[in-house]
Amino acid sequence: MNKKCSACHSETISKNITYTQWYQGELIAVENVPADVCQNCGEEYFSPDIVDKIQKVIELHRSSRTIQVPVFQLS
Ligand SMILES: [Zn+2]
Repeated sequence: MNKKCSACHSETISKNITYTQWYQGELIAVENVPADVCQNCGEEYFSPDIVDKIQKVIELHRSSRTIQVPVFQLS
């Protein structure tokens, strides 16, 4: 059962995404996060247990590897 996007009311599709969040001054990424993604606007929706899991992984800080990301300035 796919949900509807609450922003634009389009259909969402279930897929695994890379979730990113700032945490204590670091940009962290969590891979293979199941989410419902809006096909129209790209809004991502997570179930409450997935959100819990993400926060636990982040708090425990057991990252499997570190990647570098380029940072751009809009001047
Ligand atoms: Zn949408």
